[in-house]
Amino acid sequence: MEKKEMLVSKIRNGTVIDRIPAGKALKFVNLMGLDREQHTLTIGMYVKSTKLGLKDIVKVHDRTLTKTELDALGIFAPGVTISTIEDYNVRSKVVLEVPDEIEEVLKCNNPTCVTNYREPVKTKFKVIQKSPLLVRCYYCDRVMLEENVMSQI
Ligand SMILES: [Zn+2]
Repeated sequence: MEKKEMLVSKIRNGTVIDRIPAGKALKFVNLMGLDREQHTLTIGMYVKSTKLGLKDIVKVHDRTLTKTELDALGIFAPGVTISTIEDYNVRSKVVLEVPDEIEEVLKCNNPTCVTNYREPVKTKFKVIQKSPLLVRCYYCDRVMLEENVMSQI
């Protein structure tokens, strides 16, 4: 058995979220609402990686991720890899990038923005610059900096 597999066991079906920045796994789980679902999660934190030093891994059993969830991961941690597992085999694998727009996940910083007082208006932001991150609210044009975005997780 490989060392890696002893640390974080294989799953039969589901999604493997790998290369999460070390120590952030639980924040991502909360962010995506995975903790409130009835899906088994296998979480590896501070896993040794030859490329990254330390990283976190989350395995979501019997579930794939929605586009909104993938965008969220891409915006908070580009470089995260998503593998879809079927019958213990990797069916597909993608490396996430910062998306062009992001819905639902972020909150607008402007207290008078329609998304902050009228339910259920979902937030929507246009990514105007990827590094450092700069996003603009579709509803009120408020621009948020990378530090504003990162402070939300
Ligand atoms: Zn807004």
